[in-house]
Amino acid sequence: MTRRPLSIHTRLTLWYAGALLAILIVISGLSYSLLAWSLAQDVDRSLLTVAEVVRDASRSGERLDVAEQWLREFLDPEHQLFQLLDPDGTLRLRSRRLRGDTLPLSPAARQSVIEGRPAFDTVVLHDRRVRVVTLPVRRDGRLVEVVQVGVPLRPTERTLERWVEALAVLVPLGVGLAAAGGRVMARAALKPVDDMSQAARRIDAEALARRIRVRGTGDELDRLAETLNGMLARLENTFGEMRRFSADAAHELRTPLTALKGTLEVALRTDRSVAEYQDALTSALEEVDRLVRLAEDLLLMSRATAGPEAPRARVDVEPLVLDVAEVGARLGKERGVAVRVGPVAPAVVLGDAGALRRALLNLVENGAKYTPAGGRVELTAAVTEGDVLIAVEDTGPGIDPADAARIFEPFVRLDAARARETGGAGLGLAIARSIVVAHRGTLAVAPGATGGARFTIRLPHA
Ligand code: ADP
Repeated sequence: MTRRPLSIHTRLTLWYAGALLAILIVISGLSYSLLAWSLAQDVDRSLLTVAEVVRDASRSGERLDVAEQWLREFLDPEHQLFQLLDPDGTLRLRSRRLRGDTLPLSPAARQSVIEGRPAFDTVVLHDRRVRVVTLPVRRDGRLVEVVQVGVPLRPTERTLERWVEALAVLVPLGVGLAAAGGRVMARAALKPVDDMSQAARRIDAEALARRIRVRGTGDELDRLAETLNGMLARLENTFGEMRRFSADAAHELRTPLTALKGTLEVALRTDRSVAEYQDALTSALEEVDRLVRLAEDLLLMSRATAGPEAPRARVDVEPLVLDVAEVGARLGKERGVAVRVGPVAPAVVLGDAGALRRALLNLVENGAKYTPAGGRVELTAAVTEGDVLIAVEDTGPGIDPADAARIFEPFVRLDAARARETGGAGLGLAIARSIVVAHRGTLAVAPGATGGARFTIRLPHA
């Protein structure tokens, strides 16, 4: 079973809550340590103060029960655990609160007392932890007594416990609230993306004119919407072209088919002589020829536009030009147009020789078709700036610069009547251009030296 991936806003919220939880745990740990440390400091400081009071009382020779009296007045009852020891550790006196217990004297404490320093210890008395300070009493530079004062650690421990309890409630609460807020915010931030995907879902081949709303904030989402809109515009354009192409193609197919049908119907209407049937079949065959040519052109056109990239074999330009000129010369001869080869520089291009031949042949055929009898068509090839230029120039009527871009579109014929007579469907130049473009080249037309048309194929030199 595949699990649906979590939505972006859920993932954002989880990351956010996780990061916050980690931060709060670290802060809680630090605050706990800090609190524990400062409470321990307070306990030690107050213990030392009490121990010093007891020591001073003992030093000034006051009786201890009097000192205890004072302590009772000044200190809270917890602080009344104290005892006096002889330097050898024998108990001399203890406060009433100790109720017969003794505060232990650890070897480390004994050592620091000998060195004249106060020592702090934590001991356990009746299951309760007690903090004890041990302080030396010196008289005339001699250790005469040892004072020990203790305080139960229970209140400090309770404060720390309460802090932990508070954290245990506050941290999850804070993370929960932040996650809820973060989720709302992430949702709000991603709402435009949702809107956008809904809008995109409504767009299909039938409604390509629709666009995604650009909110005008200029942010990443606006840029995304603009990019998508640009893509939609290109798709709409391509779809439009395809639709026009199929409509034009259907129209082109219908004309010869209608003529064919008419011819056959007329032939079948009454009994006819063999010669009449032969006539009808001949003209039917002409229409069929036109249909076959058109079908071939359509096939070529779709191959030239659909193919990803032309195959990349080395193609010698000179034999290509000579071969096409030869085929063109035969066609020209029928129409009284001379097709000849001018200067051809040796050059090599990469691509599909068959397709390139087709493209060049279309140009030469056009030259021969549209140039009046007595004119000529010349093929040349040159190399400039790393490009190979193959030109086909004729002495015909030429092409109006205003039509120079249009004639490369499929099914465009400038002089419909003449084009019909010559039999083209207006696909020749479109096919030639698609082939050249698939070879990373360009095809352009310019006026020739005599005012005729000069078509130039520009291809990268191999
Ligand atoms: P067609 O099948 O009509 O020849 P093309 O795509 O080859 O279609 O050419 C489109 C139109 O461009 C032609 O109908 C013609 O009007 C014009 N044309 C093409 N080549 C020439 C040329 N060498 N001289 C003048 N007009 C031309």
